[in-house]
Amino acid sequence: MRVLLSSDIPCKGGCKYCFAKWSSYEPLDGSSSMQLSGDKEELILYPCCDGDCFYQANLTERIMQLSANYQKVYVSISSKLYPSDGQINQWRNLHQWLVLNKKGFLKFAISISNRSMLNEIEPQTMLYEDRLKLALKMKEMGIPVSLTLKPVLPFISEGEYRSILEDFSPFLRHVLLGGLYVDKAMSFYSDYLGSYSCAKRKVNWLPQEPEWDYIEDPELMNQIKRNAEHLGMQVFMSDKTLIEEIAREYK
Ligand code: SF4
Repeated sequence: MRVLLSSDIPCKGGCKYCFAKWSSYEPLDGSSSMQLSGDKEELILYPCCDGDCFYQANLTERIMQLSANYQKVYVSISSKLYPSDGQINQWRNLHQWLVLNKKGFLKFAISISNRSMLNEIEPQTMLYEDRLKLALKMKEMGIPVSLTLKPVLPFISEGEYRSILEDFSPFLRHVLLGGLYVDKAMSFYSDYLGSYSCAKRKVNWLPQEPEWDYIEDPELMNQIKRNAEHLGMQVFMSDKTLIEEIAREYK
């Protein structure tokens, strides 16, 4: 079972493509998502990239309590904001607790959509260099780290994505790729994407499963995949299969 944990605490990232600002975005109610009952084998929790999930009081304790109902619990965190020392400690403690109790692990993803336009497109997020430092820090703390290249933007070159993969390859091996959901009413679409064609895609990780416009350049995605594999990295199109692969390696 996969569950998205939403937060009412707004994210300060300011990404121009952020779906959390759209009128069609209806997150799962944060409190109800933590009232799951058990007898399930596996639970993957996603503190959602729609707010500051780990600033919520007692989140770690609530995850620990919830895990009593499951054989395996995996927590998959992805962030574009530099976490505070308090958040990093919280993640390390939760990861160590999950491992010690043979429950699972916490996985942290460095999330990035481009390198050359970070200031313009993701204005209040981590600097590129800080993302590299954070990947190293997480690795040194023993927390599994992956790279989320998402959304892959069609106007960013294959060479730029290759340089990101090269920079992160010393710290991690698992790469998640994904295209771009767009809201045509937002200026990000008219300013950057008007010339690219969209397809409708069902968003099955949201409770109402809305159909959103989606842009993906298959040739660019294939080239990124080939470049990653050339560097010895493994590419996934779903975080669930990525987590399952790390879980196999953990055994
Ligand atoms: S970091 Fe995530 S939630 Fe925050 S603005 Fe960017 S895309 Fe939105």
